[in-house]
Amino acid sequence: MQHFINVILPIPLEKLFTYSITKAEANFLKIGMRVAVPFGKSKIHTALVAEIHTTAPTVYEAKEIHQILDDDPIVTELQIKHWSWVASYYMCSIGEVFRSAVPGAFLLESETLILKNPESIVQEDALTDEEFLVFEALERQSMLKVQEIAAIIDKKNVLPILKRLLEKNVILTKEEVYQQYKPKLVRYVKLGEKYQSEDALGALLDSLSRAPKQSKVILSLFQLQGRNQKKTTVKELEEKSESSASIIKTLIDKEILEDFFVRTDRVVFDAAKKPSLLKELNEYQEKALQDIEASFAEKKVTLLHGVTSSGKTEVYVKLIADCLEKGQQALYLLPEIALTTQLIARLQNYFGQQVAVFHSKYTVHERVEVWNNVLTNKSKAQIVIGARSSLFLPFSNLGLIIVDEEHESSFKQYDPAPRYHARDSAIVLANFSNCNILLGSATPSIESFYNVKQQKYGYAQINRRFGDVLMPEIELVDIKELTRKKRMKGHFSERLLQGITAAVEEGEQVILFQNRRGFAPIVECTTCGHSPQCPNCDVSLTYHQYKKQMRCHYCSYHMALQQSCLACGMATLNTKGFGTEQVEQELQQIMPKLRIGRMDLDTTRGKHAYEKIITSFEKHELDVLVGTQMLTKGLDFGNVSLVGIMNADNLLNFPDFRAHERSYQLLAQVSGRAGRAKKRGKVLIQTYNPYHQILQQISANDYEGMYTDQINERREFKYPPLHRIIKITFKHRDYGKVEDASAWFAKSLRVSFADNVLGPEFPAVSRIRNQYLKNIVLKMKKDQPLGKTKAYVRKIERSFDTIGQFKGVRVIYNVDYI
Ligand code: ADP
Ligand code: ZN
Repeated sequence: MQHFINVILPIPLEKLFTYSITKAEANFLKIGMRVAVPFGKSKIHTALVAEIHTTAPTVYEAKEIHQILDDDPIVTELQIKHWSWVASYYMCSIGEVFRSAVPGAFLLESETLILKNPESIVQEDALTDEEFLVFEALERQSMLKVQEIAAIIDKKNVLPILKRLLEKNVILTKEEVYQQYKPKLVRYVKLGEKYQSEDALGALLDSLSRAPKQSKVILSLFQLQGRNQKKTTVKELEEKSESSASIIKTLIDKEILEDFFVRTDRVVFDAAKKPSLLKELNEYQEKALQDIEASFAEKKVTLLHGVTSSGKTEVYVKLIADCLEKGQQALYLLPEIALTTQLIARLQNYFGQQVAVFHSKYTVHERVEVWNNVLTNKSKAQIVIGARSSLFLPFSNLGLIIVDEEHESSFKQYDPAPRYHARDSAIVLANFSNCNILLGSATPSIESFYNVKQQKYGYAQINRRFGDVLMPEIELVDIKELTRKKRMKGHFSERLLQGITAAVEEGEQVILFQNRRGFAPIVECTTCGHSPQCPNCDVSLTYHQYKKQMRCHYCSYHMALQQSCLACGMATLNTKGFGTEQVEQELQQIMPKLRIGRMDLDTTRGKHAYEKIITSFEKHELDVLVGTQMLTKGLDFGNVSLVGIMNADNLLNFPDFRAHERSYQLLAQVSGRAGRAKKRGKVLIQTYNPYHQILQQISANDYEGMYTDQINERREFKYPPLHRIIKITFKHRDYGKVEDASAWFAKSLRVSFADNVLGPEFPAVSRIRNQYLKNIVLKMKKDQPLGKTKAYVRKIERSFDTIGQFKGVRVIYNVDYI
C-alpha cells in the first residue's frame, strides 16, 4: 500500500498538495508536523501536514518529500480546522493563513535569505560538521539563499540543518532582521560570585580599607540592595556612592563586582514579587459577573457593555482567575494600540509569571518561545495577552477568550491576506474549542449589539463608573459662529482656552484630541489653487512643520517644503486644515508656560517613545497631551479633568457606512479619559455642526439612540449586520486595465446578483503606491447561502483569470468590510 500526505504550502494555492511518503514516514508523521517538500521547478518549501492517507492523487504524480522537520506537531488539528474556516470565510487560501499565523522562522524555503546572527556567540565545537560548513559560509558571505547554502554543502535537504542552527541562535532569516529592533538593555551590578559568603565579604572589606572609594561603592551597593536583594543598576550605584564609572569598572575587572544586562522592553515579572489579591468587586461588577457566568452556562457568546472606567478589567480578571483554576488557558485579545504596559503590568500584578505577551514588535525568537509555551501548555503562558494574530497560537486547552474593546476597527486586518476580523474569528475559535468568550466595550459595535438584541449573544451591563464618579459632562462648542465673528484664537475657542487654564490652575491635566497628525493636512497655493500631490498616490501631501517636509501618509514619499508654488511660481502657499503638530504649537504660543506633549504616529515611532510619553504624562511632567486616536485606548490617567476635541467634523464626514458609528465610539472613548479617578470630568467638543445627530447622542450619552439610528440606516441601505457584503478590489498599475477588469467582473456578477452589485467605483484614494484601485461591493441577504455565493464569485474569478487582457490584475476580497 502506498502512503500519502496532503500538505498546506505557505502560498496562495486553492488546494492542499499531495506528496508520497514511505511506510516508515507514515508511521512517524502526525498532522501538524512540518516537512520539507519540493515545489514547482526547483523550489523547496516548508509545508504543514494536514492529512495522512493512502489515496493517490489522480491528476498528477505525487512527488516524495525531502524530509520531516519535526519530532512532534507544532500545530494542532484544531488550529488547522480554524485556519480552514478563516480561509473559506475570508476568501483566501489556508496557506496564506498558515504563513501569517506562524513565526517566520518556522517557514524556511529556498528563497529565504539566511544570515549570521550578529549577536550570538557561537561555540564552534557545539556544531556538527554540516552546521559548521554553513556557519563558515556565512562568515565569508554575509547573506545566502537557502538554495545557495544547499549547493555549498552539496545537500538537497538543508532545511533540518538550518532549523537546528536557528534553534541554536547561530543564524537569522532575513525577515527576522527586518523585524529586529535593538532591545534596550539596562546594565545592573551585583557582588561577584566569590564574595557571596559573609567571610569572604569581611575579608574583602578589610582588603579594601586602603581604597576608600572602592569600599564606599561596595557599602553603597549593600544599602541600595537592602534586605530583599533589590536589583541595582550601575547608574544607581554610581550616584549613590558618588563614584565614577572607572572605579566601578576597576571593581568589575577585579571580579569583585559583576555586571549583567537586562532587557527593559520585555515585560518580565519579578519572580520574587508576590501577586496581589484580586480586588473585591462592587455590586454592579458582581451583578455583571453573575450575568456573564449565567450566559456562559448557556454556551453563549457574551457582551459586557460597561461605560468607560466602570471596572470591566477587574471583571475580566475574575473570569481569568476562574479559568486558570480549572487548569485552562486564557486569551486576552486587544487592539494593537491598546497593548500598553499599563494593562500588562496590571495583569502581571495579579497573575505574575503566568502572563505571556504576544506582540508583532517582539523578535521572532520571543514569538517562537511563546508559541512553544502555549503549545505545551506551560504555566508561563497560561494567559496570553496579544493583538489579533495571537488568535492563531496553538492553544491546547483554551478555556476563555476575552476580546477587549471589541468595537475597535484595528481587529480587522486589511493587508495582506488573510483579511480577517479577529473578533469574529475568535468567536469561531471559541466555538471550535468549546470555550467561553466575552466581548467587552463601552461602545459595542453595531454588529455585537444587534446580536444581543436578537438574543443570539448574552449580555451584561455596568452603567456607572467605579467609585460612583459621574460620567463626564459633555459640552458642544459651536465654532462656526465664533469663526464668523473672528473670535477664535487659531483653532481654539475661548471656551476651550478657559477650560484649559482652569484645569491647569487646579493642578489637573488636559487631553486634546485632533484626528490628524502632521502640522496641516495640505498646503495650497492661494493664487492658483495647486496643492502638492504624492507622485505615487492619489492624495495631497501633508505638511510636517518639525521636519519642514511634505509627506505622503500612504507611501511615505516626502519632499522638502517648497518656498513657492510648483505650478505657478508664486510665493503664496498657505496651509489648510490642521493637525496635532499645529495644535501643540498654537497652544504653546498662547500659553507659553504650559508643558505640552504630543502623541501621534510621528512622535511614537521608536519602540519606547509611546511608553515614554505616557509615563511622563502619568508622572505629571506634562500639563497637556495632544494626540490622535492613540489617546483613546485603554489608558487610565487619574488626573485628567478636561478633554478637548479640536474638531469633531472631520470624523463625521468619512466615506464609510460605519463612519457615524466610529465617530460615536471614538468620541465616547476619548471623553472617557476625563475624570476617571476623583471628580467629574468635562469634555469640550468644538464643531461647526453642533446639531449633528451623533454629537447630540454623544452629549446625552445615548448609545441606544445611536444604535437605533444606525440599524435603521443599515437596513435601508443594505449593510451589515442586516445584510452581508463582500468588497472586491481590483489593483494594477495600468488605469485602463483596472477599468476594464472591474467592469467585466461587475457585469458577470450582475448576471446573478443584479441590483445587489454596486460599482465598480474608484475609492476616495484611487491610487496608492502607483497602483490604481477600483471596488465592487456585493450585497447579500442574510439568508442567502454564503458558501454558495462565494463559490460562485470564485467561479467568475477563474474565468477572469483565463482572460489574457486582465493578466496581472490583482483581485482582493474583503468580507464584511469596506
Ligand atoms: P474599564 O476597563 O471599565 O475602563 P477599569 O477596570 O480600568 O475600567 O477600572 C477603572 C478604575 O477603577 C481603575 O483604576 C481600577 O483599578 C479601579 N477599580 C475598578 N474596579 C475596582 C474594584 N472592584 N476595587 C477597587 N478598584 C477598582
Ligand atoms: Zn504616496
